[in-house]
Amino acid sequence: MTIQGDVPGSLPQSYASLGALFAEMSEFLPADRISREAGTCWAYGMDNSRLHHPADIVAFPLDHDEVQRVVRCARRHSVPITTRGRGTGTAGGSVPLQGGVVVVMDRMNQVLEFRPEDRLIRVQTGIINADVQRIVSAAGFFWPPDPTSNALCTVGGNLGCNAAGPHAVKYGTTRENVLGLKAVAGTGATVIAGTETTKGVVGYDLTRLLIGAEGTLGIITEATLKLTPLPDARCLIRAFYPNMHAASQAVSRLMNQPATPAAIEFIDGNALNLMRSHSTNPDALAIPESAGALLMIEVDGMSESLANQTDLIQAAARGDTDEQAALISLEIARTPQEMALLWSARKALSPTLRLVAPKKINEDVVVPVSRVPLLITALDEIALRHSVKIVNFGHAGNGNIHVNLLIDPDDPAQSAAADDALAEVFSTVLALKGTLSGEHGIGAVKREYIRDEIAPETLLLMHGIKHVFDPDGIMNPGKKIPDAIAPPAKPGKSK
Ligand SMILES: Cc1cc2nc3c(=O)[nH]c(=O)nc-3n(C[C@H](O)[C@H](O)[C@H](O)COP(=O)(O)OP(=O)(O)OC[C@H]3O[C@@H](n4cnc5c(N)ncnc54)[C@H](O)[C@@H]3O)c2cc1C
Repeated sequence: MTIQGDVPGSLPQSYASLGALFAEMSEFLPADRISREAGTCWAYGMDNSRLHHPADIVAFPLDHDEVQRVVRCARRHSVPITTRGRGTGTAGGSVPLQGGVVVVMDRMNQVLEFRPEDRLIRVQTGIINADVQRIVSAAGFFWPPDPTSNALCTVGGNLGCNAAGPHAVKYGTTRENVLGLKAVAGTGATVIAGTETTKGVVGYDLTRLLIGAEGTLGIITEATLKLTPLPDARCLIRAFYPNMHAASQAVSRLMNQPATPAAIEFIDGNALNLMRSHSTNPDALAIPESAGALLMIEVDGMSESLANQTDLIQAAARGDTDEQAALISLEIARTPQEMALLWSARKALSPTLRLVAPKKINEDVVVPVSRVPLLITALDEIALRHSVKIVNFGHAGNGNIHVNLLIDPDDPAQSAAADDALAEVFSTVLALKGTLSGEHGIGAVKREYIRDEIAPETLLLMHGIKHVFDPDGIMNPGKKIPDAIAPPAKPGKSK
């Protein structure tokens, strides 16, 4: 049995007043920044999840005030709003599942203020992540969130999903690298949250609440990003192991010593085969025949201390005498060219999977780092039990494993097996005290699994928060948290 939570119910599928809404919005958005044209509405109806539903109206605001006016108009007409950065998200977060207005943020791409002396930059959130990196690197800084999609994705999308990448193991995710923000809530109110300082406890922490909310509470229009000085030296260690178990044991050792690597990326045997067969330069990758797993371990810091850190990290990657037998080879790439070649092969993996299987179900589960070996063993067993090919790689230093189930969606038996395998993957992750998504977000695709992770009473509180920010349920409906929640567990059975 389920009961309805306190979240406003589904909005109507057709909106009687769309024409009136369009006319109102056209009063402040010129014709080249608002559209009801079918082709435009179709194009802004998809993201990298491959879900699709066309928008009814597409709006391209230029600043906070225009966003606020759009939200206020849409609220008056009870029309839903879906916020979109560049649509690279994999969970359907920017797909307007119930139609309505898609607010496209990528023309809001201005730098509002850059203060290297305070290690901050204030930007409009439609700016591309790589553009921020380019601007701040000229002054010796970087902004740590580094999703593989950074050449395309927006800072707003990074905030929406709490995105991260390989360097999160040392520098944290988006949440740890934002000082403050400005947003428009679903009520139409302006929210100004956070500080320009690295300490601050005044009021509730709405900055970190809005980050990761996937556009369900409001639209983040501006953000003050916390910058980190660029390291002046780095190297990349490649360590090959015969199997994932040996590699995941090495990850535990690497995280249990004082020199934190800047990145620890994890690639399994199936993914290595893809690198061998799809790399433009397979010989340069020199993957040993017997390798069943690879760790790419980046070390960074001041040039004076890099050698010491590298020694500690190498020793952990090798393991003690017994485990050393498990290491096949270890090399260090020191030149920018060598490092770039290895990183490009790693970054090509996700798109390559699309080439080899008609459908990939890509999960980004996370477990405590010491339990990565248990997860990997369980994934092998699940793949065997359900006869589903599973390819794993990801950000092992955070315990964040991209589990890719490769199937032919036209084969009903394979689809059913993948569903069963996926349910087992999730229950295994939760049994290991992990979490269902580390960075891709919940969007539409994982929403119904949330009840397995979040206890009913906590979910009710989340619904209460949603109601305060968005009483009419217009902000990105159908995403992030389920509408209906299970009744509280009976005494003695609470999670
Ligand atoms: C090849 C590839 C590699 C990827 N690698 C990574 C990776 O390493 N790490 C990672 O974390 N992700 C990764 N992703 C996923 C995706 O790129 C990120 O989640 C990215 O942050 C999304 O940015 P976007 O601008 O495309 O946002 P969109 O996809 O447009 O939106 C994502 C979510 O954020 C919300 N949103 C967008 N802008 C705002 C805003 N201004 N205010 C409030 N909410 C907003 C949307 O409503 C939606 O729910 C990858 C995707 C691809 C295709």
